[in-house]
Amino acid sequence: MSSGIVLASCPLGLFLQGPKQGIKYLLTFFFILLTIVLIKMMKKKYGVIQVGADILRQKSLSVSFIGRKERAIIKKMQQILRKTNGLGLAAPQIGERKRIIISVSEPKESQSRKGQKFYVLVNPKIIFTSRETDKLEEGCLSFQEPEIRGVVERSTKIKVKALNEKNNPIILKAENMLARSILHEIDHLDGILFTDRADPRTIYEVVKRGKQRREKWMVGDFIFFLLLVLAPWF
Ligand SMILES: [Zn+2]
Repeated sequence: MSSGIVLASCPLGLFLQGPKQGIKYLLTFFFILLTIVLIKMMKKKYGVIQVGADILRQKSLSVSFIGRKERAIIKKMQQILRKTNGLGLAAPQIGERKRIIISVSEPKESQSRKGQKFYVLVNPKIIFTSRETDKLEEGCLSFQEPEIRGVVERSTKIKVKALNEKNNPIILKAENMLARSILHEIDHLDGILFTDRADPRTIYEVVKRGKQRREKWMVGDFIFFLLLVLAPWF
């Protein structure tokens, strides 16, 4: 091995070869570091607050007018729902104690979101619930670490009074999955979680396999690889 290669394998060596080269490598190192920090920040941006946080147990406050701030909250919630393929989200789940929910019209049968409608409901109030109920398994974006599911009994048909995102009062009739999602999300506004309503015998933890684990490993592998490449420079 020539002395040049040995010298090039540590920052001091690079500086000895010439300060320009040393600075170039240091800049590369900081650029990679910045990229990692930015990736982490982006991931956090789409993060949903997880069970255990106080806000998920607090009552959210009514919204008197949907202005710029509320529209920004709605936009962020829609982005999260698209990103996570979720069926509904409530503002406290992203750290906002406001009575805003979004429910998605159809269950996700495929990865495609075509034909699905996002219902934005502000200050939603249930004005009718059917006596007919059904029992179905539910999950929640705030129960993902680890993922928890459980069977909840809910009315199959509801009527809800609310404001839409344009400040107009609406009355929405919903049934089946949409009704279930709206009831689940309104519970969030009152600090109620689906595990409070689920039959305790049906609550279980989903063992992560396949895709999610692979994704985690991909990030881990990437950082490990970077450390390996950068190690000789320390
Ligand atoms: Zn939920």
